[in-house]
Amino acid sequence: MKVTVSENICIASGNCSMVAPHVFANPPEEGGFVRLLDSNPPASEWDAVREAESLCPAATIRIDEEDASA
Ligand code: SF4
Repeated sequence: MKVTVSENICIASGNCSMVAPHVFANPPEEGGFVRLLDSNPPASEWDAVREAESLCPAATIRIDEEDASA
């Protein structure tokens, strides 16, 4: 799984770091906008990443399920 985010359309809702805190952060010092912590998360994180993607109100998070590259 390859994860990407479009920081420029993030609205800092915080949903992503709430459901997948090992993959996404919303640092207060950065205005709460998303910071991607792990673009190739382990399989144990995949369900959380999918949930974050589905809960993101701004369609900021993109998932490529097939891409296993670093
Ligand atoms: S859920 Fe989406 S809009 Fe909200 S902070 Fe995360 S990336 Fe940004």
